[in-house]
Amino acid sequence: MNNPKKQQFASDNNAGMCPQALERFIEANSSGHATGYGDDAWTARATAKINELFECDAAVFFVFNGTAANSLALAQITKPYNAVIAHGFSHIQIDEAGGPSYMSGGATLMTADTPSAKLTPAAVEELATKFVGVHHVKPAALSLTQSTEVGTVYALDELRALTSVAKQHNLRVHMDGARFANATATTGATPAELSSKSGVDILCFGGVKNGLAVGECIIIFDRDLAEEFEWRIKQSGHLNSKMRLVTSAWLGLLENDTWLNNARHANRMAQQLADALTKKAGAEIMYPVEANAVFARIPEHVQSALREKGWSFYTFLPPLGCRLMCAWDTEEATIDEFTADLAAVG
Ligand SMILES: *Cc1c(COP(=O)(O)O)cnc(C)c1O
Repeated sequence: MNNPKKQQFASDNNAGMCPQALERFIEANSSGHATGYGDDAWTARATAKINELFECDAAVFFVFNGTAANSLALAQITKPYNAVIAHGFSHIQIDEAGGPSYMSGGATLMTADTPSAKLTPAAVEELATKFVGVHHVKPAALSLTQSTEVGTVYALDELRALTSVAKQHNLRVHMDGARFANATATTGATPAELSSKSGVDILCFGGVKNGLAVGECIIIFDRDLAEEFEWRIKQSGHLNSKMRLVTSAWLGLLENDTWLNNARHANRMAQQLADALTKKAGAEIMYPVEANAVFARIPEHVQSALREKGWSFYTFLPPLGCRLMCAWDTEEATIDEFTADLAAVG
């Protein structure tokens, strides 16, 4: 479909690559031949950078997208009869077409619908103890999304309370960090504090929504837990033969805190958008704006009028709940134009 607007609020994946990632990509592309499948200098540097950033000595992998990252990571920590405890409004539950079950050979999800798309220790406790015995699935993992699908963020103490319940019940902790950068920017905590130091075992660290074209990172903090993970990646068709063209772009994100600056920008734009929608267009904001998403209640006829004007966005929570995402490149002018259009038709 032709895009009538230069920028949209439909998703942060509507944005292209950021210049820093693109620059490294072009550099890698023009530096001659290199060995395939990750046995190259760019991948070694990106892997070292990730370990430096997360203050660890983890096993680091790159797959094509976030669905694969989550599904493969969860498959690594579940058996076919296991269950993963997750939020009802999580990507693994509503947006991965059963990927985690498929990749794990049968593991299922047990979900709670706690407010603001954030799980609570009580909800995790309830699900972890719900079933006992051979007739039921056996919970083996807790999956947390940071930042969440509605743009909220787990503070460090909330995260630690959740992982502590998980550990009490022998659950491994997976984090869907498609927007981990946005959560890092919000909390001000270090990447290590928001993951391994708070009990996260496997982090899917998103790069695409932050400014890459392709390639999500999976960080398995305990190397023993990463045993034979390469085979899962290969078998599922996620071993990239031209790996350097993904990892070079990753280097562009990782150097000079570009990943964090991109996230800070997107978060700031979301704040501005929420502010403008409230003050200039009288829209009602549905969740605290803590990352790069704004959820606003917009009357249906106003939604239609905005779409007629060329805006695309998702009615994530029909009929009124619209999701508006900001990206690393969202411009103030786009916010102004959208808000003015909303005020005009509202
Ligand atoms: C976008 C997203 C993913 C990854 O989605 P893909 O389209 O498979 O790359 C995973 N988790 C969350 C929360 C997301 O928003």
